[in-house]
Amino acid sequence: MSSFLELPVTDEVEQPLFEILHELDPERDLALVRALLDALNIADIGICLCDARDHVRYANSLWRQTFFHPEETGPTDFMAAIARAVAAGSGIKLETLSLEEFVPFYRKRRQEGPDRRGFYTDMADGSWWWVRDHRFANGWFLVLASDISSVKQEEMRLRDAHARALRESQTDFLTGLPNRRRGMADASAALEQFSQDNLPLTLGLLDLDLFKSINDAFGHDTGDAVLVDFANMLTHQLSSRNHVSRIGGEEFMVVMPETPIERAHKRVERLLRNMKPLPRGEELRPLFYSFSAGLAQARPGEHLRSVLTRADANLYKAKIGGRRRVEINQGAA
Ligand code: GH3
Ligand code: MG
Ligand code: MG
Repeated sequence: MSSFLELPVTDEVEQPLFEILHELDPERDLALVRALLDALNIADIGICLCDARDHVRYANSLWRQTFFHPEETGPTDFMAAIARAVAAGSGIKLETLSLEEFVPFYRKRRQEGPDRRGFYTDMADGSWWWVRDHRFANGWFLVLASDISSVKQEEMRLRDAHARALRESQTDFLTGLPNRRRGMADASAALEQFSQDNLPLTLGLLDLDLFKSINDAFGHDTGDAVLVDFANMLTHQLSSRNHVSRIGGEEFMVVMPETPIERAHKRVERLLRNMKPLPRGEELRPLFYSFSAGLAQARPGEHLRSVLTRADANLYKAKIGGRRRVEINQGAA
């Protein structure tokens, strides 16, 4: 039972049924209860009724096909029948618990859990069921189960689609890096965390030099190839602890947790030294390009906007200072 999510049973439609059942003593009124359950069979519901010793007294064929082993016959202990199906590779799918753990766990819940509850479960055959337990005052137990596979599949499809859309909305299409929105959110979170833990964090803005002239001279596609090349270089040369994002056309942000500015400075200068030209096939000469960077170490309690402003001021300095360099002078803001 991978999803033993407990939910209160609120189904209005079933309310009257449970009220009727509650008035009954299945021990005394078994014939009546059976007639009622037979009527429920029309509704494609798996039904299992157990006595106070948890022996199965009634199980319709849908229940038996789904939760019990096909060869299960005659009156039997409920949990033993559930366990036999699991052991045979059918019935309920166990993911987190072993069968040895599951049997006493589920037995205890049936004996001591609330009188009424509902939960979802998935099965070895991939189907999903919504199961409702109902314990009578005299200890008898009724379980009703409905196949919700189609709803569940749709839910999972929507969940996948949502996760994919979310990922795409946070990813830069060209380079595959986190985009500006995601980069800023990650930077804010990192800033808050490191401020709380009183650890140094340095933020770097890296901007490609004279990129417009690359586009102008070699075309937009080559410009794109440079952006991809630069993004790959950053992710390969920086450890995954540094968060790299593309926050503008040819502007990238690197958040370096646990890094004082001096160390960050060395790190980014090393990137600059290691820059390789973009190969452009045998006929053409490789394309040399470079970047300028401005760094700022976050001050305790400082907001992202303010750190960015200081890093940007340093980037500007690097540009007017001749480009292809890293500036860290923090007084610049
Ligand atoms: P500086 O060294 O001062 O930063 O000069 P620069 O030319 O890099 O800066 P500028 O802001 O003048 O030009 C940036 C250029 O980046 C202009 C824009 O067309 C180009 N650009 C922005 N996004 C993309 C993209 O996705 N692909 C390509 N090929 N070019 C892009
Ligand atoms: Mg630029
Ligand atoms: Mg720019």
